[in-house]
Amino acid sequence: MDLEKRGKMYIDGVWVEAESGAARTIIYPYDQREIATVTEGDRVDARKAIAAARRAFDSGPWRQTSAAERGKMLEELARLVERDKEELARLESLDTAKTFEESKVDMDDIAGIFRYFGGLADKDSGEMIASPIPNTVSRVVREPVGVCGQISPWNYPLLQASWKMAPALAAGNTIVMKPSEGTPLTTIKITELAEEVGYPPGVVNLVLGPGPTVGNELAANHDVDLISFTGGIATGMHIMQAASGNMKRVAFELGGKNPNIVFADAEFDLAVDYALNAVYFHAGQVCSAGARLLVEDSIHDKFVEAVKARAAKIKLGEAFDPSTECGPLISEEHRAKVEHYVELAKKEGATLILGGKRPDDPALQKGFFYEPTIFIDCTNEMRIVQEEHFGPVLTVERFASEEQAVEWANSTIYGLSGAVWSKDQNKAERVAAALRMGTVWINDFNIYFAQAPWGGYKQSGIGRELGKQGLEEYTEVKHIYQNIATEPLNWFGAS
Ligand code: NAD
Repeated sequence: MDLEKRGKMYIDGVWVEAESGAARTIIYPYDQREIATVTEGDRVDARKAIAAARRAFDSGPWRQTSAAERGKMLEELARLVERDKEELARLESLDTAKTFEESKVDMDDIAGIFRYFGGLADKDSGEMIASPIPNTVSRVVREPVGVCGQISPWNYPLLQASWKMAPALAAGNTIVMKPSEGTPLTTIKITELAEEVGYPPGVVNLVLGPGPTVGNELAANHDVDLISFTGGIATGMHIMQAASGNMKRVAFELGGKNPNIVFADAEFDLAVDYALNAVYFHAGQVCSAGARLLVEDSIHDKFVEAVKARAAKIKLGEAFDPSTECGPLISEEHRAKVEHYVELAKKEGATLILGGKRPDDPALQKGFFYEPTIFIDCTNEMRIVQEEHFGPVLTVERFASEEQAVEWANSTIYGLSGAVWSKDQNKAERVAAALRMGTVWINDFNIYFAQAPWGGYKQSGIGRELGKQGLEEYTEVKHIYQNIATEPLNWFGAS
C-alpha cells in the first residue's frame, strides 16, 4: 500500500476507483494529520464486487481447487504477512494510533491465523453415518457456503478481517471484504498480498466505503450467501434485518461488557497487573475489555488503591514513541461517547477517583486522548456498568459473596467474555461454569489464539470465529445417501 497513491478497491482481480469518483481522507488519530486518500465506493461498486464473487464461486476455477491447495495458499499468505510485517504494522498504527509494538504483535497473530486455517483446510474428511436402513451408505460432507460478505470494525482492522478471510478461503468460499471506512489501509495491503499469492479473479474482493451503503448492500444483496460482521449491536440489528431478504446466514461478533471478578484469595499483584491491562489496553477499545471490575469486599480498598496508583502513571503518547503505553481514542465522535458515559456515571452517583477528563499535556491536544479513568461505588444498575463505552474507563463494584459476583457478572445483555481470579481452584471452576459467556479466563485476561473459538453468548454475537468452529461457520453440511440394494422393494403395483 503506497501512501502516496490513492487506495483503490479490488474487484474481479482488478484495482479500481469508485464509479462515482468519490474519495475519503484517512487521518492519524494522534494528531489528525492526513495520511492517505482512498477511493470511496457506494452500492454500485459493492454490486460489482458481489457479482464478481458470485461468478467466481459458481463457474470459476476456484471450485476445482483442492482443500490442500487452498491450505497452501493461506500458508503463503501467512509468509507474506511475516515478510511485510513492519509495513503492515506501520499502516495499522497510522490508521488507529495504537502503539507500533502492539501492531507488530497483531501482525504476528494474523500470520498465525492464516497459517492455522491453512493447516486446517484439508483436515476434514467428512463423516460416515451409521445408517439405520439396510443396503445404504450414508455420509456427511462439508462444502463452502458460497459468496461471503465480510464487514470489519476499526479497533483491530486487520486482525478482525483475518478472522473472517482465513476460514472463508480455507473452506473454498469467495469473499467481498469491507473494512471500516476510516481504517482501510491494512485491509488494502492484505488484498495486495492475496493478489501476490495468486487467488483467481473474483475470489478475493475488496470494497471501500460507508456502512449504511456499501455494508448494507453486502447484507441485503440476494447474491450473498453469508454475511459476517464484527461491530456494534445496533449495526448488527440493521444487518440482521437487511439479511433476512434471502435468509442468508449471519455470523456476528458484537460488543461486550466483560466482568473481571477478583476474589480476596486471588494472587494480588498478578490480578492488579491484569486488571490494568484488561481495561486500558488500546485505550479500552477492545470488545473483550475488562471495563467492569468486581472486587470482593475485604480487599476492595487495597486493590483499588493499587490499580489507581499504576493507572495514574500510564504514559499516553504517540504510536511510534517506544515509551508510549497508550494511544488516543479513534475519533472525536468516539471520545464524545466516552465523555457522555463519564458524565452519566457522575449523575448516577458513582465516585470518580481518577481521570475523567482529557489530558492537559499540550503535546496531546491534537489527538483524541482521554485519561485513564476509575469510578468506584458503582452499582449494577448504572448505565456505565451495563453498557459498552469502549473507552479507558474502569467501574468498580464491591461484592460480598460468590453468588452475588456471578449474578452481577451475568446481569448485562452481553456475554462475550469474563474472568475470575482466585487461588481456590474449585471456586474458580464453579464461577467459570456459571458465567454465561463465550470465553472465561481463570487467573488471566484477554487471551485468545487461533486454535480456540471466539464469540459471544446473548447479544454479544451469533456463531464463532477462530478454532475449528470458526471454519465450520463457513461451511454447509451435506448428507449424501446412497442406496446399494440390488433387489427392488416393490413399492407400488408389483402384485
Ligand atoms: P460499527 O458497528 O459502527 O461498525 C462496524 C462495521 O460495520 C464498519 O465496517 C461499518 O462501516 C459497518 N457498518 C456500519 N453501519 C452499517 C450498516 N447499516 N450496514 C452494514 N454495515 C454497517 O462498529 P465499530 O464502531 O466499527 O466497532 C466497535 C464495535 O465492534 C464495538 O461494539 C465492539 O465491541 C465490537 N467488536 C466486537 C468484536 C468481537 O470479537 N466480538 C471485536 C471487535 C469489535
